[in-house]
Amino acid sequence: MIIVLNKNDQNTIAELQEHFGNTHEVFVHHNRVAVQGIKEADLSASERAAATDIITNVPKAVQGSREFHPEDTVIRTKHSIIGGDNFTMMAGPCSVESEEHIAKMAAVAKANGATILRGGAFKPRTSPYSFQGLGEDGLKFMRKAADEYHMDMLTEVMDDEHVKMVAKYTDIFQIGARNMQNFSLLKTVGKTNIPVMLKRGMSATVDDVLNASEYIAAGGNHNIMIVERGIRTFDNKYTRNTLDVGVVPVLQKLTHYPVIIDPSHASGHTEFVTPLALAGVAAGASGLVVEIHDDPEHAFSDGPQALKPNEFKDLSDKAFAIRELLSTGMPMEQAEAGR
Ligand code: PEP
Ligand code: MN
Repeated sequence: MIIVLNKNDQNTIAELQEHFGNTHEVFVHHNRVAVQGIKEADLSASERAAATDIITNVPKAVQGSREFHPEDTVIRTKHSIIGGDNFTMMAGPCSVESEEHIAKMAAVAKANGATILRGGAFKPRTSPYSFQGLGEDGLKFMRKAADEYHMDMLTEVMDDEHVKMVAKYTDIFQIGARNMQNFSLLKTVGKTNIPVMLKRGMSATVDDVLNASEYIAAGGNHNIMIVERGIRTFDNKYTRNTLDVGVVPVLQKLTHYPVIIDPSHASGHTEFVTPLALAGVAAGASGLVVEIHDDPEHAFSDGPQALKPNEFKDLSDKAFAIRELLSTGMPMEQAEAGR
């Protein structure tokens, strides 16, 4: 249940915390107090009288819900603002391949509007015999490249025991689709203060991903973004997954966390990446995370879905143009002329 109070009613907030704090989970956000597992009859007369509204039908993932936290979460990192009215471009190779290569890809990403460099040093591969990532060396190379180009670093953490080590380097943790319900990993990153990009599992429902995000929030880390990266449907003959573009407005209605689109893993094929990305932007996503490579044929992983630098430029130009049109109602040149 969420008890909505008058602004600055600190006395009732304290009263509710004292009344329920030892037996129930109690969360406070400005003038809203969420108390898990109680009924209206459990409130004292003074608590009931102080409430301007009582919301009884709230999801289990209450901290992530709009009912508890109506305004958008805006995540601020050194070089990026994610969520709210902002649009954030993230790009980089699937895997960190070498010190030189990640720096080269950072240059391409930055030159085309990305403020966040993506890249995996620990790779969740379908086969144990496929390239597993460069490990800590990869993190070092990526940190250096991100710093050189004044970008934030986004990289996957796959195991609990690596969280501390990855935290030494990265600005944002990625939790991969396969680990979306690795609850112990979610709890561990939830105890850090590093933003988390949580990817929707390939068979996860909307409630599944929201509940997964709540494991992170439960630890005290509220800097969460949710990524749609394609789900499994009955047809994967022509695309790797199915981009659930409809989930963008659905998630935006239900949660205040930024919603990001990953068109690369959704499509699996370079030729489909840009149309899917643009559909995601048009649906109102807060950002894109895109895999790029200068020599996809020789990429260590996910080459078939990587965009070459000129292809990424095309995607990026169009994505920013759509975003401008959405926010100003005008094409970019017209909007710029009016400024
Ligand atoms: C990745 O980002 O390279 C990746 C493995 O993504 P996902 O977890 O969505 O498959
Ligand atoms: Mn990949």
